[in-house]
Amino acid sequence: MRIPFVIGNWKMNTTVAQATTLVRDMLAGLDRVKGVHKVLCPPFVSLSAVGDLLKGSSVMLGAQDMCAKTKGAYTGEISPLMLAELCQFVILGHSERRQYFGETDQIVNAKIISALKHGLRPIFCIGEKLEDHEAGMTEEVVARQLAEGLSAITGSTAIVIAYEPVWAIGTGKAASGEQAVATIGFIRDTLARLWTNEIACNLAILYGGSVTGDNIAEFVSYKEIDGALVGGASLRAEEFVHIAEQTAIIAKASH
Ligand code: PEP
Repeated sequence: MRIPFVIGNWKMNTTVAQATTLVRDMLAGLDRVKGVHKVLCPPFVSLSAVGDLLKGSSVMLGAQDMCAKTKGAYTGEISPLMLAELCQFVILGHSERRQYFGETDQIVNAKIISALKHGLRPIFCIGEKLEDHEAGMTEEVVARQLAEGLSAITGSTAIVIAYEPVWAIGTGKAASGEQAVATIGFIRDTLARLWTNEIACNLAILYGGSVTGDNIAEFVSYKEIDGALVGGASLRAEEFVHIAEQTAIIAKASH
C-alpha cells in the first residue's frame, strides 16, 4: 500500500524569520497527523533553520531546486552535496523553473540522476500547459516529460511524481478529481511500460495545482492519487494542517 504525501512548496516566499514562525505555527498540528508523509519545502536560505525546528518530529524537509553538478565554478548554484546534509527531498522540474528559467527535460533529467546519486528523493513535477490541455495533448506532453526526464534512470520508488497541470498552478482553477485521476492513471501506465508494473504500483504520484483545504478531499478520495503538492495553501498554517488531516482521514477510510 502506498502512503500518501502532503508536500508544501513555499516557493519564493518567507524570510528566515517568517519561515521559522510558519513552521512553529504548523508543526504540532502536522506532527499529530499519522499515516501521511509530510514534507515542507522552504527557500534554500531557510532550510537549516527549518530543519532544526523539524528535528525529532515526523515532518520532513525538501528543497525547491538543485544544480546537477556537485561542486565548482557555478556561481549562485546549490549542489546535491550541500542539500544532502540538510534535507531528504528536492522538487525538480517545477513548471515555474521550466517557464521562467528555461529548464528543459534534459536539464531536469540530469538533476534527477544527480539527486538520486546523492541520496535525495526527487519530487519530479510534470504537467501540460493550457494550450496543450485545450488541444487534447495532455497525455502526449506528460509521456514526453516522463520519457525524457527519466531517461537512463533505472526504476526507482525513491522518486515521487507530482502531476501538476500548469493551468491549475496558482490560478485558483484546480483540475477536477476526475481529470487528475485520468492523467495519473496514464502516468502510472507509462511508468509500468518504462520500468515495471511493480515499480509503477509502488511509486507515489501526487496531484498539484490550486489544492486547498476545501478541495483536497476531491483528490485524495481517489486511491490512485497519493496526496498533493501544495503551493499557496501551504503558506497558511491552519489550512495546510487541515489538508494533511483530511488526507490522513480519507486515505485511512477509503483505501
Ligand atoms: C505548486 O507550486 O506546485 C503549486 C501547486 O502551487 P499552487 O498550490 O499555489 O497552485
